[in-house]
Amino acid sequence: MDFIPLARPDITPEDIAAAEKVLLSGMLVQGLNVEKLEKNISEFTGCKHTVAVSNGTATMHLALTVLEIGKGDEVIVPAFSYVATANVVELVGAKPVFIDIEPDTFNINASEIEKHITKNTKAIIAVHEFGMACDIEKIASIAKNYNIYLIEDAACALGAMQNGKYVGTFGDFGSFSLHPRKAISSGEGGLVTTRNSDFAKRVKILRNHGIDMVDEKIEFVAAGFNYRLTDFQAALVNNQLKRLEQIIAFKQKLALVYFDQVKNKKITLPFISHGMNHTWQSFHIMLDESIDRDKTIGLLKEKNIGTNYGAQCIPFQKYYRDKYAIDCLKNFPVAMKAYTKGLAIPIYERLTEDNISYIASQLNTL
Ligand SMILES: *Cc1c(COP(=O)(O)O)cnc(C)c1O
Repeated sequence: MDFIPLARPDITPEDIAAAEKVLLSGMLVQGLNVEKLEKNISEFTGCKHTVAVSNGTATMHLALTVLEIGKGDEVIVPAFSYVATANVVELVGAKPVFIDIEPDTFNINASEIEKHITKNTKAIIAVHEFGMACDIEKIASIAKNYNIYLIEDAACALGAMQNGKYVGTFGDFGSFSLHPRKAISSGEGGLVTTRNSDFAKRVKILRNHGIDMVDEKIEFVAAGFNYRLTDFQAALVNNQLKRLEQIIAFKQKLALVYFDQVKNKKITLPFISHGMNHTWQSFHIMLDESIDRDKTIGLLKEKNIGTNYGAQCIPFQKYYRDKYAIDCLKNFPVAMKAYTKGLAIPIYERLTEDNISYIASQLNTL
């Protein structure tokens, strides 16, 4: 049995040929393939504007910058996510206000949001963790009632929906990542979606050194970033996009094998909320108190299975501990439990149902 890594992107010869064509053309930086990717994503999600950028973190940094969120402002974020969700708030000089998650979905507990809204709250970053939407309908209505912005961190969740509507279309901004741990990948890459034409224009200007056309002349109108995506990366991911729905359907089939075959009472399997589909960026299980998660990672590695913890309790990470000194066990007990007892196990295109059966059988021996 060969080692089964936790994740492995599935780049096909056709994907490579598409990227190679661009490489051989000599036109490497942002160009027609990036434009095509933006059009493809807008068609897929139904969101009017898409801007492709260099990574998922840049998408949120751009969104916060366009919304002019900064010093003195507060942004509500879940306590359990990848650190980038809160780092971008720090990067613009604002303060992340952490909210605990739901124990079954690992998504932000929407009913906890309102009590943390203050006169300084400018935005909510709602994360669709592990590939399933959070209760974004409810969060969108809270944002609307309090007149605050909503950014969806859908880094893991391209193709996820609540009641048939794609994530990335509920908020003022949607944010997606094209990192190799996500469903389709350009190595590094990100996508910003928005309904608002002015926001889209502003994102495009800030992506490219602050360049805009004024009276048919190139002007540098803002102190922008270089957050461009290369054209060969866009070609690579445009080709994968053709099979995104197939990839999601295949992962859903693999998930059913786990649901069918993991019988260990010490393991809690993921939960799919009513009205949601799961795109399975991660298959995230919870181990009970009797099992040491880090030892389990080592044990499964000896059985040729790659696993890892799923996400961080962000306020518990050193930078946030040092800066805010929040008692995480008291304030975010669910996030802390997910951080210490959660385990992401393999689920991706290159695996077979037999691979999953093997992993399930090993989990049953824990
Ligand atoms: C992957 C991920 C990011 C960061 O995306 P990058 O493309 O690696 O910058 C942000 N938030 C969440 C929830 C993620 O899973």
